[in-house]
Amino acid sequence: MGNLLVNTRDQQFVLFEQLGIDKLFEYEKYADLSKDMVQMMLNEAEKLAVNLLLLAYAEGDKDGCTFKDGNVTIPASFHEAFKKYVEAGWLCSTESPDVGGQGLPIIVTTACLEFMFAANFAFLTYPGLTHGSAHLIEQYGTEEQKKKYMYNMYGGKWTGTMCLTEPGAGSDVGALKTSAKRLPDGTFSLTGTKIFISCGDHDLAENIVHAVLARIEGDPPGTAGISIFIVPKYKVKDNGSLGDFNDVRTGNIEHKMGIKGSATCTLNFGDEGHCIGELLGKERQGMRIMFLMMNASRLEVGMQSLGHATAAYEHAVQYAKERIQGAPIWDMKNPDAKAVPIIQHPDIKRKLLWMKAHVEGIRALIYFTGFCMDMAKIATAEQEREKWHGLVELLTPVCKAYSSEKAQMICSYAIDVYGGYGYCSEYPVEQYFRDCKIASIYEGTNGIQALDLVGRKLGQRKGADVMNLFGEMNASILKLKRLDDLKRHVAYLEEAYYALIDLTMHFAQLGKSAGFLMPVLNATPYLEILGDVIIGHFLMQAAGMADEKLNAIYKERGAEESKAKKRALIHEDPDVAFYYGKTSAARYYAVDVLSTVKARCEAIKFGERVPIEMPEESFTC
Ligand SMILES: Cc1cc2nc3c(=O)[nH]c(=O)nc-3n(C[C@H](O)[C@H](O)[C@H](O)COP(=O)(O)OP(=O)(O)OC[C@H]3O[C@@H](n4cnc5c(N)ncnc54)[C@H](O)[C@@H]3O)c2cc1C
Repeated sequence: MGNLLVNTRDQQFVLFEQLGIDKLFEYEKYADLSKDMVQMMLNEAEKLAVNLLLLAYAEGDKDGCTFKDGNVTIPASFHEAFKKYVEAGWLCSTESPDVGGQGLPIIVTTACLEFMFAANFAFLTYPGLTHGSAHLIEQYGTEEQKKKYMYNMYGGKWTGTMCLTEPGAGSDVGALKTSAKRLPDGTFSLTGTKIFISCGDHDLAENIVHAVLARIEGDPPGTAGISIFIVPKYKVKDNGSLGDFNDVRTGNIEHKMGIKGSATCTLNFGDEGHCIGELLGKERQGMRIMFLMMNASRLEVGMQSLGHATAAYEHAVQYAKERIQGAPIWDMKNPDAKAVPIIQHPDIKRKLLWMKAHVEGIRALIYFTGFCMDMAKIATAEQEREKWHGLVELLTPVCKAYSSEKAQMICSYAIDVYGGYGYCSEYPVEQYFRDCKIASIYEGTNGIQALDLVGRKLGQRKGADVMNLFGEMNASILKLKRLDDLKRHVAYLEEAYYALIDLTMHFAQLGKSAGFLMPVLNATPYLEILGDVIIGHFLMQAAGMADEKLNAIYKERGAEESKAKKRALIHEDPDVAFYYGKTSAARYYAVDVLSTVKARCEAIKFGERVPIEMPEESFTC
């Protein structure tokens, strides 16, 4: 089926040609899967996304959520969507069948969910957070807790949340004030206020199970003293039925710029002193446990960004092909010249190519990370599993922050392509732009992601993970250098790659000395450069494969020696058009983005300290 959300041909390319996910089917765990089955699941996901979730997208934005008499109501259209989503098994598709899941590889679910993320992200926050919090209970809960909460959550009967943020504890989670008082029966009485809690209250399910960070009375300050608690909205009796209200009151909902169908709530725990929580895992292990959910959510923010970006791009291309405006540049002095579709104007074409390159690069990055997650689970040797796991850890802040920054630009360009219409709510791109913005803020702002990358991830396992990443890129570059058609463009990738290694080494040296403030100051530009080079690597790798395919087709069709015949094939054969698009995107990206990397690295190495040294007074005088 056709859709204006995801380029299914590119999806196929990344899955089966670039990443070769069929490799997974050789492992016992996935031996029952085949390419045909994956294709069937992709088709089902696309149908659900287009026929149901997409229809609720604009409506969810218009209706939003309401807060009345202490209760939250979410868009009516989300109810049917949730039911169907759960029935189709997407809520816990990667979990084992033992707990009600489908046992799918993460990469397969990632590709299927791209349709859903593109169709209606605000809706996905409900099943997404439910899955994440149920997974915490699966990993760290007691058998009793799993029985009591997890199955109902994985089954979509109850939903879940993650509660970290407080008025005085945003980026600095360790400053939280919510406290937990030990009770004689081993449970805890919780008191405190959490703000900005996504899906914190709604009318979608009969119970909501909150994963709440709090400090047990007497425990040390900072993150080391934080524990995590399971706090249901309604208490659960021993026989599994719902008991009394658990004193979790909704104070308000936020009136937001985007994702209006996702209820963002202030939650007051224990106003009346009756809020009971159960410890999840061990005391003072709250941050370590919550990181499981936070890392998964960061990757989901990457997916959200890809979803908005791909939908915005696909809409923009379609619009540019239909909107007739202005004479072509080569005929502009002719008063009788016929107006053409705007896709024929060089500035629009350039923008669309920039968008295409970034969307496809981000897709490759996110799918690759999903593939690494699968390999980290199934690789036979311990050392190999560690390698894949390390790559996931390293790439997580890049997936989250790089993708969300670029997605905003892609959505903004989509509005530009639509002109004035793009700014109006009759067309979907302004909603993509608004819905997309939050991705750079929650789950740890992009500034915090960059600090995590530079301060922790680059040096983790003594730098082995970043070296593994560089090793992967180097292997591709060596292969690509053999291709005559892309030589000049691969040279830009190689130059950018060496500049990035040099800057990484420079940061490592500074990290050992008093100069550590420079990597801190430049963490965000570093993350962008790393993302640019990774994306450049994926695009060029894809271009190399596409180039080989093109040459084989030209040979088969007797077009090797004729430019005109090659050009004609683009119109006749969709595969030729597709592969030509892949090489074009990589070539343009190399010249437009990779060519700037060396200079940006040099600028950072220059060591300008002015943002640190300039006194606060000078900002406003
Ligand atoms: C729609 C929405 C949904 C949300 N959903 C949830 C949820 O489900 N659960 C939940 O717990 N929270 C949620 N949040 C909260 C979100 O995670 C926080 O807003 C975010 O972590 C930033 O915290 P803050 O808003 O207090 O900003 P601050 O922490 O005040 O940060 C403000 C700015 O200062 C920067 N900054 C702060 N500290 C540093 C530092 N040490 N170094 C450099 N820069 C720094 C930040 O990067 C940011 O740019 C949600 C927020 C929104 C808006």
